[in-house]
Amino acid sequence: MTELRMPKTFADEMVEHCIHGKPQEACGLLAARDGRVVQVFRMTNASASPVRYSLDPKEQFAVYEKIESEGWELGGVFHSHTHTEAYPSPTDVRMASEDVPYVIVSLAQEPPSIRAFRIVKQNWMDSEGSIEEIAVSIEG
Ligand SMILES: [Zn+2]
Repeated sequence: MTELRMPKTFADEMVEHCIHGKPQEACGLLAARDGRVVQVFRMTNASASPVRYSLDPKEQFAVYEKIESEGWELGGVFHSHTHTEAYPSPTDVRMASEDVPYVIVSLAQEPPSIRAFRIVKQNWMDSEGSIEEIAVSIEG
């Protein structure tokens, strides 16, 4: 995937979830079809932290089942940065465990910025990897 297309209503829903989660980081999943977001899943930040996030495994499993049953694809894993730019932190790179778009919503400026990245590692256990940006186009 080189581009993630997102109808504005879903971008707004994702940002709203992130704002609602402050001062902690918020997170969630995006379902997509053919690279276009079709649903936003608001998830619990199981880390309940202002500087890191983790998905709740039970919630994550339920969403993966839903995506599978609908014939969708995992469009991305999103989380917020409350005070820093929309770019993967060293922790984000260390914690990356899948070749999926990692979408970051920065609330550090108004309006919030939304960017997406692929994090490529030789081995998912590695703490470092390379970061490739995926274009995000907000539609409508
Ligand atoms: Zn982060």
